[in-house]
Amino acid sequence: MNGSKMNTRKQSEVTSTDFDALKVLSADFGRNPLHIQGAGGNSSIKDGDKMWIKASGTLLGDALTREVFVPVDLVSMRTALEFDHAQSDTPAVFLIPGFSDLRPSIETSLHAVFSQRIVLHTHCIHTIAHAVQTNVCDLLAARLSEFNWAFVPYAKPGANLARSVMKVLKPDTDVIILGNHGLIVAGETINEVRALQNKVHSALALSVRELAGENYNALMDRVDDGEYVLPNDLLLHQIALSDKRVALVTAGSLYPDHVIFCGIAVTALSLNQSTYEVKQHDKRKQPVCLIVPEVGLLLHKDASMGARLMLRCLADVIMRLPENAELNYLTQDQNYELLDWDAEKYRQALNAE
Ligand SMILES: [Zn+2]
Repeated sequence: MNGSKMNTRKQSEVTSTDFDALKVLSADFGRNPLHIQGAGGNSSIKDGDKMWIKASGTLLGDALTREVFVPVDLVSMRTALEFDHAQSDTPAVFLIPGFSDLRPSIETSLHAVFSQRIVLHTHCIHTIAHAVQTNVCDLLAARLSEFNWAFVPYAKPGANLARSVMKVLKPDTDVIILGNHGLIVAGETINEVRALQNKVHSALALSVRELAGENYNALMDRVDDGEYVLPNDLLLHQIALSDKRVALVTAGSLYPDHVIFCGIAVTALSLNQSTYEVKQHDKRKQPVCLIVPEVGLLLHKDASMGARLMLRCLADVIMRLPENAELNYLTQDQNYELLDWDAEKYRQALNAE
């Protein structure tokens, strides 16, 4: 692809030890599903008036094997954010031409508001397991006393969320917890950011409760349309293995990437209901998975890799929630704004394989 060739040539002009180290950092966390799942998360480095940021639809885990970073005009983007210009929610407007035909991440503005050179945004499982609970601020205060942190309630990823982050940033703030979303850490060096990411991940670690009880024969008894199969990833059954877990995952959507890749919430089969009956009930689109309470999970045979990774993310979060957890959910309007989002459609198209 022409764009990739251009990217390689131009990027080498600004390549530094730091840029290479950013790629290693990005690949390390991008390949660890406890930090980043699929195309989620992004990293950036500021270089004078430019900021190099992960391109939309690319995987941080690929940072060492393909070009995933594109440059944006940092000064213009910050001005647009500060003065609330309409274009501040369209990161592609700030792309510096001639480097790549990829678009900057839809979360680019989240990085621009930090003064620190290096910013890493992840969907850290330990962070999400706190950030979806109703008492998130009390929980964080108990665990993050050693950090210069702040909490920002949920907003659709983009310029509005970036402006909310901007409002809580103090000169020494280097950890932001995004409600129903994830984590941002910032620092002047790659090593500082790597250490901070690991330190927050450890400070928020929760014990894993793996339940028994999945029954593959009972699951396949519900399949009468050939559309649903047993998942290869056996941990996905964890989502369904208690009444409490079923209630939590069917009540609503917990974070944006679940909605984008799996649709709204999770659908449960009722007593003796078959997969065919669900299809008759909802002819629009087959759910990516169906859970049978206390029996396990059935995966749609055409579920995308993104959907499979996000179901694993849900299993990883659910297994870490305390028994008495009460959760915050995205509102129906917040679900719909994610599903109708053109930028996300582009990202999904790039990540469809
Ligand atoms: Zn994110």
